[in-house]
Amino acid sequence: MSVYDFPGYTWLPFEGKRHAYPGAAKRDKEPVTLFCQLAASAWAYELGALERLWPECDICREMVGKVVDHRSALRERARDTFHVYGDRPPYGWISRHGAPPP
Ligand SMILES: [Zn+2]
Repeated sequence: MSVYDFPGYTWLPFEGKRHAYPGAAKRDKEPVTLFCQLAASAWAYELGALERLWPECDICREMVGKVVDHRSALRERARDTFHVYGDRPPYGWISRHGAPPP
């Protein structure tokens, strides 16, 4: 699994709260299942829309945090295993494992 396999998330105002669903933004009126398991219809809202000030759904906020953590962990793992820089230890390797043996 790479960072590109993981779908990310999209925020969606719904019934007075800001929720989120997995994956990229869908087209207007397309059905989505929110992280908190509510069924909603996707819609695009403006940057200045008042819905952006609505409180976040607790469950969706927690799940978005997990998505972000998971994506950064995958990105870090990809950096450590992508050997394009010759024999130099991968980025971050020394800080976590110490200097490699001579
Ligand atoms: Zn929610």
